[in-house]
Amino acid sequence: MEIDYSRYEPVIGLEVHAQMLTKSKAFCSDSTEYGSSPNTQVSPISLGHPGTLPFHNKEAVKYAVRLGIACNCDIAEHNYYARKNYFYADLPKGYQITQDKTPICENGFVEIKLKDGTEKKVGLIRIHMEEDTGKSMHDQDVYDTLIDYNRAGTPLVEMVTLPDIRTGEEAYQYLTEVRKLVRYLDICDGNMEEGSMRCDANVSVRLKGAPEFGVKVEVKNMNSISNVKRAIDFEIKRQIDAIENGEKIYQETRTFDALKGTTFVMRTKEGASDYRYFPEPDLPPLHITQQFIDGVKAQMPALPKELFEKYTKTFLLSEYDANVLTENKDIAEYFETILKHTGNIKSAANWVMVQVKGYLNEQAIHISDFVLQPAKIAEIISLIDSNKISNSAATQNLFPAMINEHHKSALEIAESLNLMQENNSDELQKHVDAAIAKFPEKVSEYKAGKVSLIGLFMGEVMKLSKGKADPKLANILVKETLDKMN
Ligand code: ADP
Ligand code: MG
Repeated sequence: MEIDYSRYEPVIGLEVHAQMLTKSKAFCSDSTEYGSSPNTQVSPISLGHPGTLPFHNKEAVKYAVRLGIACNCDIAEHNYYARKNYFYADLPKGYQITQDKTPICENGFVEIKLKDGTEKKVGLIRIHMEEDTGKSMHDQDVYDTLIDYNRAGTPLVEMVTLPDIRTGEEAYQYLTEVRKLVRYLDICDGNMEEGSMRCDANVSVRLKGAPEFGVKVEVKNMNSISNVKRAIDFEIKRQIDAIENGEKIYQETRTFDALKGTTFVMRTKEGASDYRYFPEPDLPPLHITQQFIDGVKAQMPALPKELFEKYTKTFLLSEYDANVLTENKDIAEYFETILKHTGNIKSAANWVMVQVKGYLNEQAIHISDFVLQPAKIAEIISLIDSNKISNSAATQNLFPAMINEHHKSALEIAESLNLMQENNSDELQKHVDAAIAKFPEKVSEYKAGKVSLIGLFMGEVMKLSKGKADPKLANILVKETLDKMN
């Protein structure tokens, strides 16, 4: 019998772990620098040796508060830490320091935009601070698993949503928004491929209208946002198929196989009581004052949503343009820096979206590796606006030449390439006269009413001036000259 999937409603909650970009670890001064030789950033505190004491990293706390403010959360005044106990080879202390009863942030939400343009708020239950484990490498040696403890103790925040998400697509939008947010806030690089942002998806299904949620399954090990969507879509279908076959859904942890696009059981889910949480005896409680929160607020970088509002409402750019310009923080900053040197907002937006982004895509480089300073783009815009060069000469010749010689000014290069438009009317008048003299019979046709012939004369003027004539001025002169003839 055909299964009617539309009878079911999927319910999804996401847990996102984000590695904080602090220079040192969460509870000691070991460096967190990425890419160092394995096991070189591991002090006795990271290993939990007897007699060592962890201490708070103020910067990590600041980052968590920054995220909480951006997500409209309540910030906890009194923070206590707990030990979550379990054995695994990548956890040298045998426990993880985390926040159990008093997460630093509660409530709050992240706003996402759905494909049909409507907005949806995904509620947050909590954001709490904890520390990362070391890294097990199962594929570096034929016989053994190797372990690098450099990552052990790196500060993380875990953001847990309410079960508000209903489709794989919504999960995709949520993660895209969270990644954008942590990057704008400068607290995490948001790189899912490298594991500095990780997501576990809790998925259940229920018949539409059912009062209770179904049994949830937790899916792990998706290393990209699109794989999270794939895993959720697979899981929804698997669960509905199972229920329709009269099978039971078990609360379990499954892992995603990106090659097959399927999930399979990793372990049955442990309950919180299995971890024997108890208050961390070695760390003093953390008191967050209003003054501290105000300090973080005062230093908040602009958020993508605020920039979007500014671009659409104050700059009067289209929503599409505002979206493209705010998608990436560095692009938005580049655009804003151009605006320090020119008042032509629309033109600056176009240059960033078309020429600059086009070049970056073509070369597969990031804006931070782009050699042209924003002020140079403003120089090009000003040459165009003052009719010194044509738009097509600017995009086709000047821009690529400037990338090659990025220390020179736009004017210098435009002059050396002979791109300056002739808006000297004496010079231009000569070309106009020559163009008209070349087609005497067309002049009569024009006089007889075929005004579209202006295009023919204009084309000739542009040819004679080698593209340097200012088209507006040339157009006026051609018309005047023709009209004066009898
Ligand atoms: P656990 O203790 O198993 O980690 P939590 O209650 O803390 O479970 O919730 C973890 C995540 O699972 C949250 O994002 C929450 O929204 C989500 N969740 C809870 N119940 C369900 C459900 N029935 N279906 C889907 N997601 C759920
Ligand atoms: Mg969980």
